[in-house]
Amino acid sequence: MSVKVRFAPSPTGMLHIGNARTALITWLYTRNKGGEFLLRIDDTDTERSKEEYEIAIKESLEWLGLDWDSTANQKDRTELYKEKIEQLKKDGWLYPCYETPEELSLKRKSLLSRGKPPIYDRAALEMSDDDVKKYEAQGRQPHWRFKLKHDEIYWNDLIRGEVRFQGADLSDPVVIRENGNPLYHLCSVIDDIDFGITQVVRGEDHVSNTATHVQMFEALGGKVPEFAHLPLISDAEGGKLSKRLGSLSIIDIRDEDGLEASAVVSLLARLGTSDPIEAFGDLKPLIDSFDFSKFSRSTPKFDPDEILRLNSKILHEMSFAEAKGKLEKFGLSDLNEEFWDVVRPNLEKLSDIKEWWDVAKGPVDPVIEDPDFIEAAAALLPPAPWTTETWGEWTKAVKDETGRKGKQLFMPLRQALTGMNHGPELNNLLLLIGPEKAKERLLPKKAA
Ligand code: GLU
Repeated sequence: MSVKVRFAPSPTGMLHIGNARTALITWLYTRNKGGEFLLRIDDTDTERSKEEYEIAIKESLEWLGLDWDSTANQKDRTELYKEKIEQLKKDGWLYPCYETPEELSLKRKSLLSRGKPPIYDRAALEMSDDDVKKYEAQGRQPHWRFKLKHDEIYWNDLIRGEVRFQGADLSDPVVIRENGNPLYHLCSVIDDIDFGITQVVRGEDHVSNTATHVQMFEALGGKVPEFAHLPLISDAEGGKLSKRLGSLSIIDIRDEDGLEASAVVSLLARLGTSDPIEAFGDLKPLIDSFDFSKFSRSTPKFDPDEILRLNSKILHEMSFAEAKGKLEKFGLSDLNEEFWDVVRPNLEKLSDIKEWWDVAKGPVDPVIEDPDFIEAAAALLPPAPWTTETWGEWTKAVKDETGRKGKQLFMPLRQALTGMNHGPELNNLLLLIGPEKAKERLLPKKAA
């Protein structure tokens, strides 16, 4: 059977880590099955939905490497919703309610204070014609609820296994607002039927929504799709994602943190699965190894340091051909393959390259603690042209002359040449610095 799956973000904010993970997993599943991926923009909330968010969400998905076969906006589909709503009203599935938000909140509080679950009491079903007239005379407009059957609701979740609810334990969901706008629940189900969605993948915060949706599919005469509810991610300590982490948008990660999309994808794809988290430079192995049966039901912990670890690995293996385009934005147009190969094992983020560029090209502030030693070393610098052997020849000569070895020999040379205690292998780095600059750095007074 062919698979058609959708990702349905609301354009009321940026795409964050949590939703990006849902998008990625939905996409990996679809591509693994050779199915069709629909990007559905849930923009029925006309007050909160913004086009700039829709654009940013699409940009985020593209940056992550996720494409879509088709796209739709719910705001363009109101005619279909109207038609289906009429049908549901005629069939007795929807009923009008006139309670104000304050009245509903009082009812909820009263139930809770008596230790009862805050389930809507269906008082609206008891209204007389006079009650309705009275409300309308007060200028109240009805909102509409979907009348759940008080039967057992069951589905076999691709992640959670058997899920059961009792219709009587759920509040009849509000599906149309006072202003006549249909809400998420109903529009989502109408669209899932209309687009022939075969699997719905979303966060486990939607589990009880799904219970009500199952009955809506039936009421609308649609086929109930399969469901996969992903456990929501937590922070490294197992708590709710903190504001900082939870608010990490994909655009921020791209622009402010300067991370590789493949590092983000490598982590999000495998988090909470039985597969090891590894650095993948492209999506193919993640598509091939995807299987819902590998997902655990427990809450996966998200540690942003892990993205950095994966990011370095991806950079260490990145070819110059791939890096070239990404380096342009740093304005390092002279940067060649030789430089890239020397420096990439020291990169955690691509932006670190600027630091090494400055180390090679200068100016640097040499750190010289023992000027006599450095002066002696400078006098022994081999003549140009230099090769990868030069560093070895030079340090052997310095060792023979001064008797220093190991760290005592190498660290002062590194500090004088680069101003730092760590960095790329010096046999390579020395070549990038070149004889002239090396001499200037070893003998800063003379150069001045
Ligand atoms: N717009 C909904 C959300 O972002 C979609 C949920 C769903 O996948 O049905 O939560």
